[in-house]
Amino acid sequence: MFDNLQDKLDKAFHVLKGHGQISEVNVAETVKEIRRALVDADVSYKIAKEVTGRIKEEALGQKVLTSLQPGQLMTKIVRDEIARLMGGSVAEMDLKSSPSVILMAGLQGSGKTTHSGKLANFLKRKKTKKPLLVACDVYRPAAINQLKVVGEQIGVEVYSEEGNNNPVSIATNAVAHAKANGFNVVIVDTAGRLAIDQAMMTEIRDVHAAIKPDETLFVVDSMTGQDAVNTAKAFNDVLDYEGVILTKLDGDTRGGAALTIRTVVEKPIKFIGTGEKMDALDVFYPERMADRILG
Ligand code: GDP
Repeated sequence: MFDNLQDKLDKAFHVLKGHGQISEVNVAETVKEIRRALVDADVSYKIAKEVTGRIKEEALGQKVLTSLQPGQLMTKIVRDEIARLMGGSVAEMDLKSSPSVILMAGLQGSGKTTHSGKLANFLKRKKTKKPLLVACDVYRPAAINQLKVVGEQIGVEVYSEEGNNNPVSIATNAVAHAKANGFNVVIVDTAGRLAIDQAMMTEIRDVHAAIKPDETLFVVDSMTGQDAVNTAKAFNDVLDYEGVILTKLDGDTRGGAALTIRTVVEKPIKFIGTGEKMDALDVFYPERMADRILG
């Protein structure tokens, strides 16, 4: 994850880390290299330009030119700017109500079912949470079975209604079931399509309106890069969601979605998925991720 960006940023700092005389030309050249590295990481040119514009301003303002350790100072400036790009501080879920309802939205294959399970597992481990998983994909029986398998694996009950093909009523009944049976978190897995279409958007909007989730999380495959960012925008227009789960970061060598979703959509990445197993879920800490990128 982020391997290419790490390498390229390292090379960009090469000049400033050397012992030669540092000049404004060196700084400009470094900034240009950073911009190239960001664009190669699938950050849009516009954002890469804005970010490097700020980096240059900071660098000149903080007197990188006269610093005894210009490389270190520049690394810190870039690190702070990248952390800011990804949202700065951590964004936690608000699960104060009981039951709290979490709605999972996203395209088919993005990792919704897997991450419904991972999230249930994550919450269950907190001891104070008793999650219920809800299968609302009425079009694909395989999806319901998949969630049941996941539920069994992590020891979490799965609510489903055979024969009911109305996701709004399944979700509403599930919340009532949770209330009656002492579950304090309800995680609703929904149907996704391969691409955005009106029927899917109407359905998820109706489920959203009926159960009024505390947290709507948009699940998206990080490997789809700028497409991930565009899909994130389209879902946010309809759902005004609380946050993003960025999946498959273990296979994403570029990192463009992780770097830019927050800035483009103005919604935080709350979790990242880093594998197929049920424990491959991490809270997203922009600062830590920036530290990692800058090595
Ligand atoms: P859904 O259609 O949105 O419910 O997507 P699924 O949960 O069925 O996931 C689609 C595929 O992606 C499955 O084969 C998952 O095992 C895989 N997958 C999901 N999340 C991750 C992840 O974070 N990393 C990796 N490597 N694979 C993942």
